[in-house]
Amino acid sequence: MRRIAQSLAAARDKFVPFEDGPANIEVARRARMVVSVSATAMILGPAYVAVFWYFGYTLMTICATLTSVALLTTPIVLRQSRSVVLAGNLLSLWLFAAVTLYSFSMGGLGAPGTLWHCSFPIVGFALASFRSGVFWTSAAIIEIVVLFATQRAGWLRPPVSLSEESLQWIGLSSDLGLVLIILVFTLAFESQKNAALERLSAANRELEKANEEVREASRAKSEFLANMSHEIRTPMNGVLGMARRLTKSELAPEDERVAGIIRRSAQALLAILDDVLDLSKVEAGQLTVEKGPTDPRSLIDDTVELLSGAARDKNITLTTEIDDTACRMIESDPVRLRQVLVNLVANAVKFTEVGGVDIRLVSSPARGSETQPRVRFEVTDSGIGIAKEHQATIFDVFTQADASTTRRFGGTGLGLAISARLVELLGGAIGVDSDLGRGSTFWFEVPGDDPTSAEIEAAQDSRGIALSERHILVADDDPINQEVTVAMLREIGCIVDTATNGLEAVATLRPQKHSLVLMDCQMPEMDGYDATRAIRETERNDPSRPRMPIVALTAGALPEDRRVCLDSGMDDHLAKPFTIRQLHDVVKRWSLYRGDPKSAKPARQAGSHRSDSQAAGHN
Ligand code: ADP
Repeated sequence: MRRIAQSLAAARDKFVPFEDGPANIEVARRARMVVSVSATAMILGPAYVAVFWYFGYTLMTICATLTSVALLTTPIVLRQSRSVVLAGNLLSLWLFAAVTLYSFSMGGLGAPGTLWHCSFPIVGFALASFRSGVFWTSAAIIEIVVLFATQRAGWLRPPVSLSEESLQWIGLSSDLGLVLIILVFTLAFESQKNAALERLSAANRELEKANEEVREASRAKSEFLANMSHEIRTPMNGVLGMARRLTKSELAPEDERVAGIIRRSAQALLAILDDVLDLSKVEAGQLTVEKGPTDPRSLIDDTVELLSGAARDKNITLTTEIDDTACRMIESDPVRLRQVLVNLVANAVKFTEVGGVDIRLVSSPARGSETQPRVRFEVTDSGIGIAKEHQATIFDVFTQADASTTRRFGGTGLGLAISARLVELLGGAIGVDSDLGRGSTFWFEVPGDDPTSAEIEAAQDSRGIALSERHILVADDDPINQEVTVAMLREIGCIVDTATNGLEAVATLRPQKHSLVLMDCQMPEMDGYDATRAIRETERNDPSRPRMPIVALTAGALPEDRRVCLDSGMDDHLAKPFTIRQLHDVVKRWSLYRGDPKSAKPARQAGSHRSDSQAAGHN
């Protein structure tokens, strides 16, 4: 029975594809309604006849009234519209009369016609809905059994005897009526199905058009973001680099203050740009993490170093507590973890007027299939706190606890959303415990997996190498950016040669002298990609020539930009504006692995578009 009901339900779905779109659902609801109500009447018909035979008109009237109530309430329960209910009931009434007459005239409820009637509601209800089908099928079976038993016992006799001819006419008209009903149903279904199909394909066409528009808009948005990011990053590199040089030079106190403001403002602008780019990556599902050996303690040190000035300015304390049992080295993404921690601590400082902020590193039990305990960072502040009802939504994009927060403290409402996504990508969890007016504890934890010992060695190796005497070739057509890079390289002890385009770079490069090329991508005459291809070609033709590490210095900060650089033969990619610390890491890493690029894992810090200006303070 179940299989029959299932195949009927499948047939219904095929015959009446009403599942999509509100208009089609409405059509389907009406169709089901008509079938349900009429089928109810038909299954109840024989029951009325039985009641009439045994107990007379009074009880039958009561039963009919009860049935009418049921007929009226069922559609209401099913939330049908009133006009459908009315139409269904009128139809039921007619069906009821037809079935009663038919069964009556056929001389008993055990007659084959009655059985056939009983099967019709089963079909009807199975078409209407699977659950009703099962229910009414059971009801019909019980009814058939009872009626047969009654018939067998000989209790049931037709109360009136009609002539043979009358019986034939009644039977004929009843059958004709049923055939007509089926015909009307079929036609109604067919026309509704066609109308629904027409609406469906119109809706599909609309949807397809809307989809195309969305895809186009999304492509345009990504393109715009990439262009905007590129265009802003190039001058930002100049602003930040020059502001940095200015703050390092001897200045009158007032000028020093002004230079500091310029630098901090540029860093803030860059942080927003990074967040917007990250958000667009979250939306495009392109936000990625790159795991490597990570020292949780050094992340805390970096964060404190970066934000202690801001805490001092606000006269609040910034303290740390490090649990000795927490893992020393984990396999995670240091850049992204620092981004999350900096965001939480910067928020804590921002939203605290009195008291202080405490950063804790503790060990947390392993979860699920993890073998190592987790590493948990907790940032507790004595600031404004967050009301319970806002705590669940602050991790959503553009969400701030309340509108007055924006007015009072500023902010974009992006930081926590991006942090939550990053922690999730790193296999961890993030959360908050907070009391309004009393302060908050933001926490996040990540798996404390062990990095391989080779990776730790590589990380430590590159840390211990002195940079002095490294001879670097910088190819950049923008004089300001070139000046910034050269000044930073000199500051970390390198000797620098310069070129203003790709052709010049290829001509100036001396494999025995230079340990690394820092290559801008877009340059006149010959761009950085072609220059790299030319250098790689020469290396291929001359096996005795060592492979030269080439790192792109470009304002293109998206993963696609990085891919284009690597595809052209470059080894790594450092997005502008970069910090001296990032530049330092890149030079250490790549000049160390000269001639054997496979042994140098691209420095995550170098590959990240995130300027890390917050984390490193562009120092
Ligand atoms: P932004 O700080 O740029 O507005 P975030 O996503 O970092 O964006 O934070 C979202 C909101 O969460 C903030 O606007 C603020 O309402 C609330 N919030 C975050 N950190 C704290 C905190 N330490 N104390 C109180 N409220 C906070």
